[in-house]
Amino acid sequence: MRNETQSPGQRRRRCLVLVPCPYQGHINPMLQLGTILHSNGFSITIGHTDFNSPDPKTHPHFCFLPIPDGLSQHDISTGDIAHIISTINDNCKLSFQQLVEQKQHEIACIIFDEHMYFCDAVAANLKLPSIALRTTSAATFLARSAVISLIRQGCLPFQDSILHEMVPKLHPLRFKDLPIPRSADHKPFTQVVSETYKIRNYSAVIWNTMDCLEHSCLSQIQQEYCPVPIFPIGPLHKTAQITTSTSYLKEDANCISWLDKQSQNSVIYVSLGSIASIGEKEVTEMAWGLANSEQPFLWVVTPGLVSGFDWIEVLPKWFIDGVGDRGCFVKWAPQKEVLAHEAVGGFWSHCGWNSTLESISEGVPMICKPCFGDQRVNARYVSREWMVGLELEKMERGEIERAVRRLILDNEGKEMRARAKHLKEKVSGGGSHSSLNELVNLIMSL
Ligand code: UDP
Repeated sequence: MRNETQSPGQRRRRCLVLVPCPYQGHINPMLQLGTILHSNGFSITIGHTDFNSPDPKTHPHFCFLPIPDGLSQHDISTGDIAHIISTINDNCKLSFQQLVEQKQHEIACIIFDEHMYFCDAVAANLKLPSIALRTTSAATFLARSAVISLIRQGCLPFQDSILHEMVPKLHPLRFKDLPIPRSADHKPFTQVVSETYKIRNYSAVIWNTMDCLEHSCLSQIQQEYCPVPIFPIGPLHKTAQITTSTSYLKEDANCISWLDKQSQNSVIYVSLGSIASIGEKEVTEMAWGLANSEQPFLWVVTPGLVSGFDWIEVLPKWFIDGVGDRGCFVKWAPQKEVLAHEAVGGFWSHCGWNSTLESISEGVPMICKPCFGDQRVNARYVSREWMVGLELEKMERGEIERAVRRLILDNEGKEMRARAKHLKEKVSGGGSHSSLNELVNLIMSL
């Protein structure tokens, strides 16, 4: 794609610096975006923190620019994501500005994860164009705005009596679906969300969603919140088609040969993503429910899924000894390949936005068990708006057994699978391709 006869001025406009937020669910879409833009003739530099830094070997066609983040072991060990993101923004601005200044004349644009807002300040200082990448759903954007207003009005924590009521103007969300802060101290959350939503220097927003999926939320955001163009170009993983892993953990491909031996639509794939953690009692209920469902399962048990346990030693011994070939455990799966496998009949998911998009893109119906934050919003949309999943209310063995059977064996599950396949077709034929062309033209014009 690269035109060697370009003038130096034209070549200069093709260097992009991309800055992901250092969590799995954010780094994946940013690396996918980098791959897409690289195949459109841009050269890509990934600016990254020391914390959770990506592996340059998996992307030999990108340059990597480490940004000292100054995070202490104490900061990281808090596990408080809002605090960590806020600290990164405080600590990285100066060093990033110094790093970018050295290459300023080569850079066409800085594309930053919405949470890495220090990049936008640096771009403004250096008079460089910038674009924000949003990696959550458009519905989550509106829900987080509502949460900020409710915090300011002193409405949190919600009273139990309103949890099942609908939130005004946010159909189909109930109060219990709102992405409220995890910590009792709301300040880091309020600060990160308010800073993230400020319109500063950036000329456009790239969104890992699709207009055909979230048309009304995107229109509302464009009208009420966002004076710059929005480019919904998702699902990024489908357009990027990256063959190497973008994961921090090593993917265990052995589960694919196990899936090869299972019959069509029979397996329930279980993964709660990269950050969620649950208690010992809940994981035991999961084991009982899966055992009693008598369906084959592939279960991603990440190190630390249950605090203090490295892997499946947290599961009851009778369960591990007795499961035989009906179950397969991995620490980390090649998830996109798993979801594309014909043996997978359902995905029991925490409903992170990437997992949700990956499931929808393969037409796989879901059991939704959100743990916190935007996962609740996505779970509600999956089960109530798009009707391609059912929500698990409690981590209780009987309910889990019934949910697995309903999804894999019952007519209700077959209908959801048919809707999921229909949604897959809609999404793959959606308007993201033309949005991507418009985005590329905009970047070229900056
Ligand atoms: N993922 C994976 N293997 C696993 C579990 C997850 O590759 O065993 C990937 C998954 O494909 C997705 C990302 O990790 O791209 C998780 O992002 P998501 O937004 O779903 O959840 P988060 O981890 O941010 O909570």
